[in-house]
Amino acid sequence: MNDKIEAGCDLLVVSPHTDDAEIGLGGVMAAWAAAGRRVWALDLTRGELGSNATPEERWAEGVAAAEVLGLAGRVQLELPDGFVDATNPEHVGAVGSMLRRLRPRWVVTAPEPRRHPDHVVTPALVEKAIFHARLAAWRPDEPVHRVWGGGAPLPADTPTWQVEARFDTCPVGGEAALLVDISAHWQTKRRALDCYASQFARGDGRRATMINEPAFLEEIERRARAWGRRAGVDHAEALSGTAVPLVTDLPGEVWC
Ligand SMILES: [Zn+2]
Repeated sequence: MNDKIEAGCDLLVVSPHTDDAEIGLGGVMAAWAAAGRRVWALDLTRGELGSNATPEERWAEGVAAAEVLGLAGRVQLELPDGFVDATNPEHVGAVGSMLRRLRPRWVVTAPEPRRHPDHVVTPALVEKAIFHARLAAWRPDEPVHRVWGGGAPLPADTPTWQVEARFDTCPVGGEAALLVDISAHWQTKRRALDCYASQFARGDGRRATMINEPAFLEEIERRARAWGRRAGVDHAEALSGTAVPLVTDLPGEVWC
């Protein structure tokens, strides 16, 4: 279906709030960007219900993190924080419209941890948008959004788009479909997380939350070390999904 139209990016990471992509997949984003892949982040909401910081402060933090990770671009939609709805045609249309513009080869959602209702529904919303983006008769409206792309505008949209593969970040205790070695990029992920001072650091009159206590960042590192230990490397991130690759020869990857 994509024979005549080239992919606009290699990896698109979709997350409910600006910072979830870095929490779940910052290492993969940094590693693949460093390898020359075009990596974009798509944040579904502005995070206006967050306990700390304004949407504008959170967007500025997200842009800083994108620069640290070497992303090609970041888009933030304005779906209602706390009320992202996979059954709402406008919400599906907002994501589908961006799929047709960014034309990603792979889409990964970053819904962990799944305490928040927006996190719970994000994989289902993206799954539906991916399905509809293939349908030429479906014409979603252009959603309200803002974009950072190093000065580059969003590409024009295409009538249809078919992604090659979709994954989610693997939950703790979940079954990984892929492990990605991020050992050489762990420090870059940490620097990207440090950009979100309003979310992960206490002080300056900030309200205490579950993610701005030191144990939260320690948990992220513990998880990366645990996946890494299974693979025999220092740090790894895990993806889960139901698709399997079709191969024609013995693959060269390490199995673990
Ligand atoms: Zn979130």
